[in-house]
Amino acid sequence: MLLGELPDIIEDEAVHEAPLAWMTASRTTGSRRLSASTLNFAGRGFAASICAACILAGSITGCSTTPQNDVASIFRSDVDEVILEVDYQEGAAPFVGDFRNGTQVWGLTEDNANALFGASSAMLDIPTTLDDMEEIEVASEQAFGSADIVEIAEANRSPLNSDARRGIYVVFLDGFFERNGTPQRQVLGVSINGRGIIAMFKPVIESAAPAPLRAFVEQSVLIHEFGHAVGLVNSGLPLTSDHHDAENGAHCTNRQCVMYHQNEGISDIIEFAVRVRETGSNVLFGEECVDDALAASD
Ligand SMILES: [Zn+2]
Ligand SMILES: [Zn+2]
Repeated sequence: MLLGELPDIIEDEAVHEAPLAWMTASRTTGSRRLSASTLNFAGRGFAASICAACILAGSITGCSTTPQNDVASIFRSDVDEVILEVDYQEGAAPFVGDFRNGTQVWGLTEDNANALFGASSAMLDIPTTLDDMEEIEVASEQAFGSADIVEIAEANRSPLNSDARRGIYVVFLDGFFERNGTPQRQVLGVSINGRGIIAMFKPVIESAAPAPLRAFVEQSVLIHEFGHAVGLVNSGLPLTSDHHDAENGAHCTNRQCVMYHQNEGISDIIEFAVRVRETGSNVLFGEECVDDALAASD
């Protein structure tokens, strides 16, 4: 593959800073039973929203084994295993362990993946501890463009050896996404269309939220990118209802859904946290997005 042939990024979501929303969220959630320590983040004026956070990088033509229009085939009955492979650069290990309520941090990704694959017969293989993930050598760089990310994935992802096994590759990087030579200091994660490749930018995640929320933010971003990787919204997965926010790319019109393009900064992540605590449901996808995925399973 010629890396020089990578097309431009087709979608670049506006970065959304919401210092006021942040402060409002701090106050309103105070009456919503988030613990005092969780709320101890007044004074920070910066918030990156989940999707402000996300850039969906362009699909790669000519050398892709999974054309974008075939992304949804991951849900078909001839697939019997879907593997989420997670690597990390030194210093960029993902958060693992448990949330305060005892739920496993990676249980969130697991529950959300299970929601999308609820009608599929495939077994989902999702790591939950660092032992299940791998630290990899990555040439020390401050910023990584789409081509760099694809190169890292191709050098490190495990061969699947069977059409019945499908993989989504995630790499946590100790650096920023680079676009047109400029580091994107507010991009939390990217999904590379049609390739099943996700990159997560640890320094941005670390700065996007106060410590008690970081693991939740990280999981939320990963779930959002996972949604893109399997074809949401209308990006490989056919729509089953009118919820595609086409103006904003492959996103969802449902504000309660993790695929919504522009949340109210960190306040929406807090909404998710509150919902998880109060309903016991970890599923951050709205039912429209879940329905698209369920319908793609035959
Ligand atoms: Zn997105
Ligand atoms: Zn949705």
